[in-house]
Amino acid sequence: SPVRVLSTLKGCLTVSSTESAISSAHGLGWRAKEITQREVARYAERTRGSQKASVRARLVMPLGVPSSFQAYDPHPIVVKAARGANMWDVDDNEYVDYDMGFGALFSGHVNPLVRRAIDAQLDDGTLFVTPCELNADVAELLGQRYGLPMWRFTNSGTEATMDAIRVARGATGRDKIVKVEGGYHGHHDEVMISMKPKLEDAGPADRPNSVPATAGITQAVLGDTIVVPYNDAEALERALRHEDVACFIVEPVMENIGICLPDPGYLEAVREITTRYGTLLIFDEVKTGITAGWGGATGALGVTPDLVALAKSIGGGLPLGAFGGKREYMDQITMGRVLHLGTYNGNPLCMTAAKAVLSEVCTPQATAIAIGRNKLLVDACSDIIEEANLPAQVLQFGAKGCVTWTAEPVRNYRDYKKSDLDLAFAQWIYGINRGILLPPGLDEQWLISIMHSDEESMRYANVFSDFVNELTA
Ligand code: PMP
Repeated sequence: SPVRVLSTLKGCLTVSSTESAISSAHGLGWRAKEITQREVARYAERTRGSQKASVRARLVMPLGVPSSFQAYDPHPIVVKAARGANMWDVDDNEYVDYDMGFGALFSGHVNPLVRRAIDAQLDDGTLFVTPCELNADVAELLGQRYGLPMWRFTNSGTEATMDAIRVARGATGRDKIVKVEGGYHGHHDEVMISMKPKLEDAGPADRPNSVPATAGITQAVLGDTIVVPYNDAEALERALRHEDVACFIVEPVMENIGICLPDPGYLEAVREITTRYGTLLIFDEVKTGITAGWGGATGALGVTPDLVALAKSIGGGLPLGAFGGKREYMDQITMGRVLHLGTYNGNPLCMTAAKAVLSEVCTPQATAIAIGRNKLLVDACSDIIEEANLPAQVLQFGAKGCVTWTAEPVRNYRDYKKSDLDLAFAQWIYGINRGILLPPGLDEQWLISIMHSDEESMRYANVFSDFVNELTA
């Protein structure tokens, strides 16, 4: 059933049929379910090779996937190749990829300039575990974009947020951290709390409980992570007032509940409150970094954090993370108070890819063109929603966009929980059966990459229009 499908999408997403209030209220619920039933059968038919591959993989990997985010019922598509904006599965179905590696491929699949850099590096070695000049090249390029002077490299976003938090604890001598309800910052213990809590566990909206997202989180860790609602400066102030919080880690624009924008003045208030209480402000720009604009969300929104965590698109499709910040905080590492380690940190293969991404591929001009293309798609989807008078929001932040099925704009996790996931799922499966690969998690967003042509950027608008016509017929 769609509910079961949804409950396994992105692992932590839990759905109950009672949450489909909107589609019922608008009389769309049955239509969405009918479409889903038909499309699930069609999906099974089109993806027999993926099904076979999944059955084999489940024998040797839990859920048959290398990351639980990749699992969904009845089985995920199993991919054999990707180039530019396109992807092909083992059944030879072709897709325009709007997922782009959960937003990690702003450069496009196998961007020719990234490939050229990697090819050249293969002649010279892939791992030195002693510095190479590319390290400082990339640190300088990130410094120019984010206005922060000191950087270190990691292999993932998880490591980047984990190390940034450790630097904040070292710098302040404090244990506690504050994160936002519904925020995702990777899979280390202290942030796997209140990622997508069930409402019955979540407590009052303005003082949410800290809810572990997985087994294996100790009570001690749980006790050190305080959870606040997004877009609520007062709640943050209450949490920091005791002057025992090392850092507030937040996505400047939340991109794991669709796209949730800051209210005017919220981030400025966050900056002021964190400074007042001696708490470091960490922007998690793993998703917004370089896709929000040339200088990330930091540049687009004009609020500078103390530390920033990056990953995904800076690596051009290779595994790379980074964290950077003000000298006084990064000097915790210089002084040896905070240790930052890793065999693969700054390996030349990922570094050369990042250098190509930051200097040749995602230039200010190319970034602006992709964002412009995305705006055309977002506007087209908005027109379709408006014309059909549907309860949905179409949102854009830089090169990313999404349709969220709520009657009102989403300001925080509790608002997001009102979204109609029956409609969202029907939209997703309708798309995938027509060569449109949207992120499977329903809480992610599409990314228009540097390599999406005008036509490839807009293809989804036509399919979305057909979906809405069927939904409202
Ligand atoms: N922070 C945010 C905002 C993310 O979206 C993610 C991954 N989706 C991470 C951190 C973790 O990154 P990674 O998967 O590379 O560990």
